[in-house]
Amino acid sequence: MSYVFTPAATVSVPVLGTAARFPVHRIYCVGRNYEDHAKEMGFSGREPPFFFMKPADALVVVNAGETGSMPYPSLTKNLHHEIELVVAIGKGGKDIKAADAQQHIFGYAVGLDMTRRDLQNEMKKQGRPWCIGKGFDKAAPIGPITPAAAAGDIGKAEIYLQVNGQERQRSNVSKLIWNIAETLEHLSAAWELQPGDLIYTGTPEGVAAVVAGDTMHGGVSGLEPITVSVK
Ligand code: MN
Repeated sequence: MSYVFTPAATVSVPVLGTAARFPVHRIYCVGRNYEDHAKEMGFSGREPPFFFMKPADALVVVNAGETGSMPYPSLTKNLHHEIELVVAIGKGGKDIKAADAQQHIFGYAVGLDMTRRDLQNEMKKQGRPWCIGKGFDKAAPIGPITPAAAAGDIGKAEIYLQVNGQERQRSNVSKLIWNIAETLEHLSAAWELQPGDLIYTGTPEGVAAVVAGDTMHGGVSGLEPITVSVK
C-alpha cells in the first residue's frame, strides 16, 4: 500500500498505569446534559439527549502533571470553557442497552469542550450547524484516561473547574440528566460505537469566557485532573 502523501498519525491519549495508549476514533459530545446548565443557556432542561461531534485531531492531549496549552482560536471574541467527564469506549456496539453499557467502557478522563460561544449562538439563531462553534482546531483538551476499574464510583463524582485559581464550575456527575449508561444507549442507537470513541458527556452550570493568559484547572474526583493555559 502506498499513499499520495503521508497519512496523519493516529491521535492517542495516555492511559494511567500503562505505557500503552488509547487510540482515538471519534469524539461525540452530549449537549445540555445538566439541568442548571441547560437553564443558563435558556432551555428547560427537559429534552431528549442530542449529540454533536468534534474531529479526533481537535484533541489537546495533556499528560499527567503537565500544563497543556491551546491557542486562543480565530474568529471569536467569546471563548467558553465547559468542563466535562469523558467516557472512553473500549468495546464497540450498536443499540447498546443501558444495562449493558458498562462492559463497553474502557475508562474515563477529564476534558474541556471549548466553545466559540458567539459563533455557536449565531449558528443556533440561523438554524445552521454548530461545527464552527464546537469543532475547531484544539477545541478538545483531554487528560489521561483512568481505566474504569480504577476510577471509583464515577456516577457520584464531583466535577469542577477553576480559572486562574478561582472556581467557575462545580457540580456532581449524579446530576447528569442522561446518565452515562443512558447516554450510551441513545448514542449507539444513532451511531455504531467503535473502540476508541470518546464521549464528552456534557458540562454543568457556570460556563464563561476565558482569554489569552488564563489557566484552566479542572477535575472529576477519582480521575487525573487537567490543566490548560490559553495562549
Ligand atoms: Mn459541552
